[in-house]
Amino acid sequence: THQVHIIGGGLAGSEAAWQLANRGVKVRLSEMRGGGDTTPAHQGDGLAELVCSNSFRSDDDTANAVGLLHYEMRQCNSLIMKAAEVAQVPAGSALAVDRDVFSENVEKALSEHPNVEIVRERIDALPNEGTTIVATGPLTAASLARSIGTATGADSLAFFDAIAPIVYRDSIDMDICWIQSRWNKRTEASNEEGDYINCPMTKEQYLAFWQGLMDGEKTEFKEWEADTPYFDGCMPIEVMASRGVETLRFGPMKPVGLDNPHDVTPEFPQGRWPYAVVQLRQDNKLGTLWNMVGFQTKLKHRAQVELFRTIPGLENAEFARLGGLHRNTFLNSPTLLDRQLRLKSAPHVRFAGQITGCEGYVESSAIGMLAGMMTATELAGHDWTPLPRTTALGALLSHITGDAEADSYQPMNVNFGLFPMPDDDSIKKKQRKAYYTERAKRDMAEWLGAARITEPA
Ligand code: FAD
Repeated sequence: THQVHIIGGGLAGSEAAWQLANRGVKVRLSEMRGGGDTTPAHQGDGLAELVCSNSFRSDDDTANAVGLLHYEMRQCNSLIMKAAEVAQVPAGSALAVDRDVFSENVEKALSEHPNVEIVRERIDALPNEGTTIVATGPLTAASLARSIGTATGADSLAFFDAIAPIVYRDSIDMDICWIQSRWNKRTEASNEEGDYINCPMTKEQYLAFWQGLMDGEKTEFKEWEADTPYFDGCMPIEVMASRGVETLRFGPMKPVGLDNPHDVTPEFPQGRWPYAVVQLRQDNKLGTLWNMVGFQTKLKHRAQVELFRTIPGLENAEFARLGGLHRNTFLNSPTLLDRQLRLKSAPHVRFAGQITGCEGYVESSAIGMLAGMMTATELAGHDWTPLPRTTALGALLSHITGDAEADSYQPMNVNFGLFPMPDDDSIKKKQRKAYYTERAKRDMAEWLGAARITEPA
């Protein structure tokens, strides 16, 4: 007899189980691997298997967002962080692990825990009742995905991500770019000046850029991804470009209705239309992150940075996220989940891990950790004390559960663009990372002291 059913024994599900069990809650952890099933990416049956790289990325907790997330997770007694320490291998300032030792340590801690029962079984439908955490990851089994799709609506569950690069607003050169909506069209949600940042291109620049898209090195689809259909709306930019040299100029790079105020002539007092444009649209409520509209791509990361920095105004662009296209099951969490990761239409179900639209091992584990802590708090009859959004955990959680733009919602890594800007204007750009980090650590300590979550029931 369990109090909480966790579906999926990957990174998020294992961490959630640990957080609950340590607070005296009885958990059933259902993992389909080892019960006759697997995913196209997993190799073995161990809990918390790392499917690709063996790195948890930077461990620098002084000026790096993911390093700060490590720090905060350690403060919350994270099993994933503990197991990573035991399994650590040398990797400079990164936290990398021996993946087998890592997985064995996670599994050992949970299988020895008196409050955890690990069951090797596949779950095919969302339970109608009983406190549940769904942590089935980017490769959720098809039957369960169908059941989740039915419960949430067809448009709310994606099977592919189509990631356009995201640029930090303060790295865009506004002496070259300008803000305007095409034909100055606006809706109720519109900004005063317009909704798009426009980067203008001359004919020569456009042709060189087109050639760069054609020549740039691309990542291949994995065999098991190739037969998953993707829709026209998320076609890679280079595939669209390959249809003809003018295709982009009639598609995402269409310049009509956009008057460049940096190119004013007597004939065009408002500014001339450029030959082509790249448009960026606001990606978070804070206005710190902007995505390159229509620029989902399979170009290799290095090729993206090189090519996209040739776009006028983006010469010094810093990317919060580079483009990609992968098989990836994830929810439109900003519309479907409440601030505590509960499905609004069925609040006995929480979601955790990459299926919520966070991206990466550390982020998935972090959201699993929070789901476990929130569930334990709820079962103990306490109110959840919201995390300060100045912390890495709070910033990531806020993004997923409401602050991201729902229309363009795509998986997101933790990054400083998700953090509220400094209140104090005197903090220079160079000092920001250190400032965000210090502020986060201070606010995290305060939250841990105040929230009832720290005491196991
Ligand atoms: P998972 O770790 O995948 O755990 C989900 C678990 O649920 C799995 O064990 C699965 O077997 C189980 N499950 C699924 N459906 C059911 C069901 N119906 N019933 C019971 N159990 C079920 N992130 C990085 O940071 N670095 C990388 O290098 C990286 N590479 C990736 C490569 C690939 C091919 C993929 C798909 C993702 C990659 N990611 C990477 C992204 C992501 O961080 C990982 O996928 C991460 O494991 C997600 O954690 P999770 O707990 O949400 O899901």
